[in-house]
Parts: sequence; C-alpha cells; structure tokens
Amino acid sequence: MGKCNSCSKVYPDAALKKMIHIVERKAYLNYICPSCQAIVHNNPNYYYLVESNK
Ligand SMILES: [Zn+2]
Repeated sequence: MGKCNSCSKVYPDAALKKMIHIVERKAYLNYICPSCQAIVHNNPNYYYLVESNK
C-alpha cells in the first residue's frame, strides 16, 4: 500500500503511478492515484515516469 502524494489517500501500490512534478526546474517523484491522475493529466508540470529496464 502507498499514499497518493496529491490527495494523501492510501491505495495499493499497483494503482499508484509514478509521476514527475516539475517545480522551478526541480523534478519531484510523486505517487499519484487514479482519480488524481485525471486531474494532473491536464497539468503540463506533471510527466509520467517510464522505467525502461522493466
Ligand atoms: Zn490522489
């Protein structure tokens, strides 16, 4: 289980997506739940993190 960094609700790890939040040229790794993904999807400061060695 993990916590959504946006709404602070607890979700299973599989439901949380790793997303990068860019703030003032810094990249923060956030765990974002499905309902918050719909919100940040329209925010150009958020990017999906893709791990290529998986
Ligand atoms: Zn959330």
